[in-house]
Amino acid sequence: MAKPVIALHELRAALPIPPLSGAAPAGPLADLRGRALRDLRISVTDRCNFRCTYCMPKDVFDADYPFLPHEALLTFEEIVRMARIFRGLGMEKVRLTGGEPLLRRGIDRLVAMLREALPGVDLTLTTNGSALKAQAKALAAAGLDRVTVSLDSLDEATFRAMNDADFPVGKVLEGIDAAAAAGLAPVKVNMVVKRGVNDGQVVDMARHFRGTGHIVRFIEFMDVGSTNGWRMDDVIPSAEVVRRISEHFPLEAAEAHYGGEVAQRWRYGDGAGEIGVISSVTRAFCASCTRARLSTDGQLYTCLFAQRGYDLKQLLRAGAADEAIAGAIGAIWQRRDDRYSEIRTAETARGRKVEMSFIGG
Ligand code: SAM
Ligand code: SF4
Ligand code: SF4
Repeated sequence: MAKPVIALHELRAALPIPPLSGAAPAGPLADLRGRALRDLRISVTDRCNFRCTYCMPKDVFDADYPFLPHEALLTFEEIVRMARIFRGLGMEKVRLTGGEPLLRRGIDRLVAMLREALPGVDLTLTTNGSALKAQAKALAAAGLDRVTVSLDSLDEATFRAMNDADFPVGKVLEGIDAAAAAGLAPVKVNMVVKRGVNDGQVVDMARHFRGTGHIVRFIEFMDVGSTNGWRMDDVIPSAEVVRRISEHFPLEAAEAHYGGEVAQRWRYGDGAGEIGVISSVTRAFCASCTRARLSTDGQLYTCLFAQRGYDLKQLLRAGAADEAIAGAIGAIWQRRDDRYSEIRTAETARGRKVEMSFIGG
């Protein structure tokens, strides 16, 4: 894969922020497709100790890769201020992500600050689990509601090859146990399924977590970013995942918890719990997508597959008032028309999009 000559984040000029009116939008916020702004994903670092081949391939994210300098990152105070402004616009859920969020120093302090500022908001975090055993208790004590832990295989060789950091399965499993013991439950376990790489372990994964209370979510391999060499042929459709598991452990469709839920739920017929499938490629859910993303350096992205974001940090640091920032976010959201997964083609998949480690999965 060709290595970009400059940092991926430098390839994107920010989109122009709409003129500031100084006033927050009146009434419920909706985009051009009638979608509210309910979820905010905040990337707290663009760095990671893994090099998952589908996310941060080593040949691009190598020792010379110019990650963001510390001063470019939103501070905890800035993150909390932004989250409070989003809350005022109807946001109900915050997910901390990255990169690897547990690498951000003092992340439990950020969780505590968000908890205090946003009582009643669902506060979660997605992690590769490598540092979870050490941090689960502190995160729970700080007020985190739940965690999602990524684990692509229970097979040692496959997992080590996929994380490309030689990280062992056992340590992630310990992290999952520690999270559950700390009350961060139910733990969701994300498995990205890639044909010919780990699809042979789908049933093992289901078997391992059945009856534990943890919920495995099988995710279709996506064409996020522009470095992971995505091909449609590598995608295992969720329908096939459900079929394969059902052959061993019969599944029945379960109702969604709420409108716009990303994962489709399937319940084991014998009462051993449930799984989820996230079919972003074969069954787009753009019509109910209520997610906004705040990148590590404070840009607002209205779609996971966006090419460019809006530089809210610049507004923050220029001294804009909360009302003016809320007005800008409202105006951006009101002109949002994203539905990438509905219109994905081989051509769009090759386009230059923002890397997932930068805006958060
Ligand atoms: N480092 C943390 C982790 O791995 O959980 C949080 C960030 S990671 C970008 C968030 C989620 O995105 C992970 O569950 C990861 O497996 C998923 N992901 C990354 N690249 C993906 C891709 N190309 N297709 C599908 N899911 C992907
Ligand atoms: Fe790191 Fe998560 Fe991306 Fe893997 S998926 S490289 S753990 S950010
Ligand atoms: Fe939302 Fe964009 Fe994904 Fe569609 S492609 S579900 S608009 S993030």
